Amino acid sequence: SQGQAAPGGRGDAGGRAHFVFVPLMAQGHLIPAVDTALLLATHGAVCTIAGTPATAARVRPTVDSARRSGLQVRLVEFPLDYAAAGMPEGADNADNVPAEHMRSYFGAMARLREPIESYLRARAPFPTCVVSDFCHPWTTVLAANLGVPRLSFFSMCAFCLLCQHNVERFKAFEGIAADDEPVVVPGLEKKVAVTRAQAPGFFRGSAAWEVFADYIERAQAEADGVIMNTFEEMEPEYVAGYAAARKMKVWAIGPVSLYHQQRAATLAARGYATAAIDAGECLRWLDGKEPGSVVYVSFGSIARAGAKQAVELGLGLEASGHPFIWVVRNAHEYDAAARAFLDELEARVAGRGLLVRGWAPQVLILSHAAVGGFVTHCGWNSTLEAVAAGLPVVTWPHFTDQFLNEKMAVEVLGIGVSVGVTEPLMYRAVEKEIVVGRGVVEAAVRSVMGGGEEAEERRRRARALAAKARVAMQKGGSSHGNLLDLVKRFKAVS
Ligand code: UDP
Repeated sequence: SQGQAAPGGRGDAGGRAHFVFVPLMAQGHLIPAVDTALLLATHGAVCTIAGTPATAARVRPTVDSARRSGLQVRLVEFPLDYAAAGMPEGADNADNVPAEHMRSYFGAMARLREPIESYLRARAPFPTCVVSDFCHPWTTVLAANLGVPRLSFFSMCAFCLLCQHNVERFKAFEGIAADDEPVVVPGLEKKVAVTRAQAPGFFRGSAAWEVFADYIERAQAEADGVIMNTFEEMEPEYVAGYAAARKMKVWAIGPVSLYHQQRAATLAARGYATAAIDAGECLRWLDGKEPGSVVYVSFGSIARAGAKQAVELGLGLEASGHPFIWVVRNAHEYDAAARAFLDELEARVAGRGLLVRGWAPQVLILSHAAVGGFVTHCGWNSTLEAVAAGLPVVTWPHFTDQFLNEKMAVEVLGIGVSVGVTEPLMYRAVEKEIVVGRGVVEAAVRSVMGGGEEAEERRRRARALAAKARVAMQKGGSSHGNLLDLVKRFKAVS
């Protein structure tokens, strides 16, 4: 029923769980959070997703399509108070919030607590659980005011989270002066070495953000559990290890991208209302290629390849001899010379190389049989999407958790070849120009896409992982079971 809930009362949830999602505005956080909401709704939950307008626009087609198919999910827009925050009107997505306004953005988001709370109190069914991005520590208060538990949401692997947690709790970098000196991550059976620059901690590394980082850590320690976009069979010891270290329940519910597998419409629109290339055109292009022959190249939704890097990357792909789809998301920012280079390259490799200037239907592409490898920046979603598609990867981390994800792909899962970047492009607010040469790109692509025992082994491991991922999401599988457990555990008590 859509009736008025008694203030502070339970409302009528018909016994169903009602999850309130508060995602972060960046695609890498938003897309998996929405997929998770849709999966929970598939299993009988009611889900409300609270989003700012520009952010909501990115996932509106997906949510609308799910609603049409009968899922009980609603996407509610809450505009930020842009004027009060001193922010440009409408700036509320990773794409349009200027870096100097990032602190204001988080402040303005925290002020959404009241309108979100009033909205939820005014409508049945009353929420039974808040699922919020770990970057929104203020949602602890939202959940407490509503009298419901709060689960924090991570689209990260348990390996990365445990490594990060352990270097912090065991103070692994204490007494280490250099940011590029590797230390062994304490408390793991496996020997994994990282530098401070590779694992600085979330929002750590710059004095301006330390207070916020501490706030996030406090909120995390107080959370009633964690939802993670990973699956138990891929990293059982790390899922268990993180749960033990945090002393909290972890629900591994991924790979969430598999939600779209049987749904052609939402698969093509995932994460962006208008892709820079028509899905049909993309599929036709792929249909004309040999199975496993195409390499897909993308650095996610935030990382930008500088013009010099774009030239080296383009020449490396050309020299590799393999067909490729290359997503150049920031081509419009390049100078005339770099843009001309892209046009000329495109003409030279016509039929063999496809350049996408903007947003690509990534999961649709990765799922096509013609694709045989993925050059990735190791954002966790992309890494897990490669796993779900059974693809080996060339790993090319740019910043944040991407270095630990690279170690996951290369050292833990054995499905990756590194291009050898060891330091972030952006660290302590300082940008560094790191250019990977064309020869390195060519060699890494040839290594992942080529023949030979090592490459075959990598492919076998990737395919075996994909099979496990599929099983995890099917009836009787671990992620499927964890989703059902969430829906059952957080159902309304009337
Ligand atoms: N993505 C996409 N098309 C693009 C770029 C990205 O569909 O052109 C999706 C990708 O499939 C993934 C997400 O956006 O789900 C990016 O998340 P990830 O963690 O890989 O990287 P981030 O963007 O957070 O750095």
